[in-house]
Amino acid sequence: MSTVRSLTASCRLPRLETRMLLEQALRRPRAWLLAHDDEPLPEAAVQLFLGWVRRREAGEPMAYLLGEREFMGWVFEVTPDVLIPRPDTETLVETALDIIRDRSGVRVLDMGTGSGAIAISLALACPGAVVHASDASNAALAVARRNGERLGAAVQWRQGDWYAALADVEPGFDLIVSNPPYIACEDPHLVLGDLRFEPATALTDGADGLRDLCAIVQGAGAWLRPGGWLWLEHGWDQAPAVRALLQAHGFAEVSSRCDLAGTERISGGRL
Ligand code: GLN
Repeated sequence: MSTVRSLTASCRLPRLETRMLLEQALRRPRAWLLAHDDEPLPEAAVQLFLGWVRRREAGEPMAYLLGEREFMGWVFEVTPDVLIPRPDTETLVETALDIIRDRSGVRVLDMGTGSGAIAISLALACPGAVVHASDASNAALAVARRNGERLGAAVQWRQGDWYAALADVEPGFDLIVSNPPYIACEDPHLVLGDLRFEPATALTDGADGLRDLCAIVQGAGAWLRPGGWLWLEHGWDQAPAVRALLQAHGFAEVSSRCDLAGTERISGGRL
């Protein structure tokens, strides 16, 4: 008979990961695991746990095994159809909130929304905002919609490539944000760690990493109101290139901000 104690003792994963997988397989909180560590466990939950352990040992990301990841204090469903939300991206949300907080009727667009983490976090923190979000992937949008419904965020979801997704939407946004694919297709990181399991189209533009960033900056002028802001997440070495792009397309007040690791992670400007 397997117990929490026996499974924990025989598992070679880090203790925290073992505990998180046990909590999810048993659908019990940590306190329950501590109080019942010698109790025989249901065989179905044990098999679920052991299956996840094997997949984790083969490198699958925790977020895909658990089916969820926390972002901005909210728990988001994630599947292999969407990028796993990163703490780095909270910098983008916080910067967006500095612009839109307490502004009723403010219109916001999140492009390439994936799990919906950015759009939903903005809608929840700023209930007076009108938030639109797009993605090229229907599978990703299905996850985003479920997250929006479960968390109670009103977001207008649109399917399509960048600005083509907005065919029936009025221009005049106050703010556009995006965490687009920005990894160059040759980047060796794509075949390492969690990235191996994430959707390639959410990570790389299939080119030099600047192609989609460039497409978003180029098209933004037609969709922002004068004075509207564009803020983009980008790679650790792309800030100077993104600032130059913004300046070349008529943006003022161009600047970058660092993520928690001190890397310039987002750049933006005002039309
Ligand atoms: N920040 C992610 C990473 O480097 C990539 C996210 C993206 O391409 N938008 O792992």
